Amino acid sequence: MNPKERFLNAMLREPVDYTPAVSVTQLGMVEAMESLDAKWPEAHTDPQKMATLGASLWELIGIGSIRIPFCLTVQAEALGSKVRLGTINIQPQITEPLITSADQLKIPEDFLERGRIPVVLEVIKILKKKYGDKLPILVGYEGPMTLAGHLVSTEKFLVWLIRNRDEVKEILERATEANILYTEALFKAGADVVVPCDPNASPDLIPPPDFKEFMVPCFRHLTSSVKGYFVLHICGKTKKIIKDMAETGVHALSIEDKVDIREAKEDAGDKVSIIGNVSTSKTIFMGKPEEVKEESKKALEAGVDLLAPSCGIPPISPLNNIKAMVDAVKEYYNLPS
Ligand SMILES: [Zn+2]
Repeated sequence: MNPKERFLNAMLREPVDYTPAVSVTQLGMVEAMESLDAKWPEAHTDPQKMATLGASLWELIGIGSIRIPFCLTVQAEALGSKVRLGTINIQPQITEPLITSADQLKIPEDFLERGRIPVVLEVIKILKKKYGDKLPILVGYEGPMTLAGHLVSTEKFLVWLIRNRDEVKEILERATEANILYTEALFKAGADVVVPCDPNASPDLIPPPDFKEFMVPCFRHLTSSVKGYFVLHICGKTKKIIKDMAETGVHALSIEDKVDIREAKEDAGDKVSIIGNVSTSKTIFMGKPEEVKEESKKALEAGVDLLAPSCGIPPISPLNNIKAMVDAVKEYYNLPS
């Protein structure tokens, strides 16, 4: 079984020889950027550098997935938002709100030719050529609520959620349309899996009933409009919305360490697989390799379908801590090292 077959089978809960260590979230790490000369911020705009960094954890330590890009700002930028690209260890950020009402959000005719969308599409083609059928190519992006937050500001969006529910519904519908157009282009370019990441839709920010009311329809619209594999990543304590996340038509849920894997699997039932959840804020960022190994083995023991960092990897985390995930899999399954 090669890494791509293993990833897709595990994601679809079909037989695998073992559960691999992968990343479905941001994986650019400073140590990898420096050793492969593919540094931020250039790797956000230079196709060759983005391709190199996207495959870096496979090349350097054997992580079983390729994952691009390294931020959640590509669609907002293509819609007209200004972006500060950051530094070697600070991610790109939207600098100011673009619009003040939902009806101002218009998707330009040339949306797919704007900002860094052409870069991402070109990188998929570069990776496809080089890694072909051997490795899964994952592309992450900002889901509808996070995209809406970028466009009007998260503060204003949260006020709308209390006072102006129609505005919320409208902007989310328009943001979902952008997601659909972008997703179609990603699959057409050769992406194997797309990963909508929606930190703003976390129960840490919005009440779980609002997730059900607003976000489930958005994601269902997305997954029923475009044919392909989807992994949904939502940050934080998602225990209360796992059942709803499982109803969105995606194939897998990426969960954080604040969620218990056994409980998540129970709540998700047989609709989706569960990916996670080695802590990026604690163990991977600040722990020792032995601690990462221990946490990884616990996740494997709990029956996680794909072992992965719980969220985007903080770029200054030690590469050895990600390697410890790969080593944990080898030890757990008695694989040759
Ligand atoms: Zn997250």
